[in-house]
Parts: sequence; structure tokens; C-alpha cells
Amino acid sequence: MTEVKVPFIDLRQRFEEEKTELLACVERVLSLGHFVLTQEVDEFERQAAAYAGAKHCIGLNSGTDALMIALWTLGIGRGDEVITTPVSFVATTGSIVHVGATPVYADIGDDMNIAPEQIERRITPRTKAIMPVHWSGRIADMDAILDIARRHNLIVIEDAAQTMGARYKGRHGGTFGAAGAFSAHPLKNLNALGDGGFLMTDDDEIARKARLYRTHGLQDRDNCVLYGVNSRLDSLNAEVLKFRLERLDGVLARRRRNVELYRSLIKSGPVRIFEDKPHEQNAHVMFLVQAENRDGLKQHLAAHGIESLVYYGRALHLHKAAEKLGYKAGDFPVAEAHCDRVLALPHHQHLSEEQIAYVAETVNRFYGV
Ligand SMILES: *Cc1c(COP(=O)(O)O)cnc(C)c1O
Repeated sequence: MTEVKVPFIDLRQRFEEEKTELLACVERVLSLGHFVLTQEVDEFERQAAAYAGAKHCIGLNSGTDALMIALWTLGIGRGDEVITTPVSFVATTGSIVHVGATPVYADIGDDMNIAPEQIERRITPRTKAIMPVHWSGRIADMDAILDIARRHNLIVIEDAAQTMGARYKGRHGGTFGAAGAFSAHPLKNLNALGDGGFLMTDDDEIARKARLYRTHGLQDRDNCVLYGVNSRLDSLNAEVLKFRLERLDGVLARRRRNVELYRSLIKSGPVRIFEDKPHEQNAHVMFLVQAENRDGLKQHLAAHGIESLVYYGRALHLHKAAEKLGYKAGDFPVAEAHCDRVLALPHHQHLSEEQIAYVAETVNRFYGV
């Protein structure tokens, strides 16, 4: 086996860097002896809401739960259609299916995000909401999407799982629509020690309901006012997220530096690197490129000790679970072409400049450029 010289991600390095502070978080929370919906959760919620410029943040168990709870609070369910993108993690579609609604796909544009003009073509009398995804940390074209939503009286729920730290015309992602669903999974920019998530909203009623849904619909110990689930952000994770939120801008700066280096070193042509538009601040959760002979490049990188991942090689409408939805290959040509070419190169805040230069050189050598 080839020695790994550039791992895709290295969570142990992250632990080494944060060890003292993380262990102090564990000690603080354990010594207090309360673990459910404590002050740590309130504090994280307040700080995260302030960071994003939202009125409310509700700490939850995962980004997937945040999506489902957002849909529940907005009364979206059986008989309703939600327009979403075929290029995302499966949970985007899964959340729509789980509340009983029907996902309707609209093809992506050349920024990997849902294309506004495709959304308009998919609107029917049953359409209730649009669920854009800010894929890899790049905000979808929210001006156009909000305009469509206004004209057709549709709700916007943002899948903001990869959005912490991402802005569009100065405004933080996940705060454009009625609600934004964030993930704190270890692979996201602001991450917990395992699963975690949160929902952001400016709407008092959505916030009130989300707080009920996350804890069995219990208004207090003796009064259940609706049937909810158990989806509370753990106090330990809240404490860790508070600490990591303070460092988030530093993490973002390091990730931006990686991408700028990659951009300057990889010769374009056979590899397409997505440019950032002037009005966007990309959170760079993943560094995705589109590559000619993608599978050949991936193999070549592996032979040189560089881990890369196809993120993802299948558009959502072509999964077995989507059979019932009735789509077929060819329905979303831009999304499908993207999935055939996309590759995620190693990208995390602990990569050294030498490692990035080595990856770029190995890519260039593969294409002989
Ligand atoms: C990670 C992710 C999710 C799911 O978040 P979890 O916290 O893992 O449940 C949903 N949508 C997108 C776009 C994601 O990247």
C-alpha cells in the first residue's frame, strides 16, 4: 500500500491542536452534572444566532433533524411538493420524504447549486416550498430564489448544513428563508464531537414550535402540546461548539488560504476550479473540482499517497430510494454531468503549503500540463 502523504481529513490533528480547551470543556460540563437543555445550550444558541445575524437559534441533534423540524414547524407534509436540488447529501431529500411531502428536483446551474430558472419550471399548484442547498459552502443565488418565492407565495427553507461562515452580499447563509437548517457533523466547518445541528430563524412562532418539537412537544414536564421527537443538542457539544465558534473565523481563513493556493497552483483546462463571485464569501467546506477523466485522476492521486473523494458520484434522483419518485437518467443533465466529473481534493485547516503544492503538482503531472 502507498503511504498516505496527504490525508483527505485528519481529525486527530484537530484534537492535538484543541486538546487543552476540549478537555476543559468536558471537565466543566461533567462537573456541573446536568446534561440536557442546560445553560451551555442557551449560550451556544445566543452566540451562534449573533454570529449569523439571526433572531433565534435552536440547538438540535443533527442537521437532518433541523431540516425535518423546519418542515414540521411550517406545516409542510402530505400532498405538498418541495422543490430541491439533485446535487446534495441524501438527507436533503430524506427530510422532505419523512415529513410526508414530495421532493421535486430542479437541475443545478454552473455553480453546483439549484438553478433559479429551473425552479420556476417545476412549480405546480401543490408546490409549497423551495429547499435550496448551499453546496460545499457556496450560497445559492438567493436574490433570484427569494424573488421566485415571493411571486409564487412559496416558503424558502435553506439546507444550510454546509453554510456556517458563508455569506452572500454580506448576509449569512441560512438566514434568507423562513428557516435555515445547520449541521455540526465532524466534517462541517463548525463541528461537534459527533452529531449535532441547529436551526436558525427570525420567526418567533417557528422558533417556539422548533423548541417544542425537539423535546417531545413538552411545554413543561406535565404538558405535551404536540408530538415531537428527542432531538436536543447535548450540553457537552454545546460547550464545545461555543469554544469552536470563537475560532471559526480563523478556521475559515485557513480554508480560504488553502483554496487560493490550489487555485494558483493547479493549471486550469482539464480541471475546472470554481471561481467565487465578488459578492460571495464561500465557507469552503469541501474543495470540489470538475475533472476530465476523474476516475483516472483519483487513481493517480492515490498511487501518489493523496486521498481524494468523489463527493458525490450519483445525483439524488438516481438512487434506489428515489425510484418511487419516477425520475430517470437524463432528467437533470447538468447535475448528472457534474456528478460524473466531480472530485473533492484534500482540504482541511491543517494542510501545509507543501502538501497543497504536492497535490497540485501531482494533478498537473497527470494531465501533462
Ligand atoms: C451534512 C449534511 C446534511 C445532514 O446533516 P447531519 O448533521 O449529518 O444530519 C444535510 N444536508 C447537507 C447538504 C449536508 O452536507
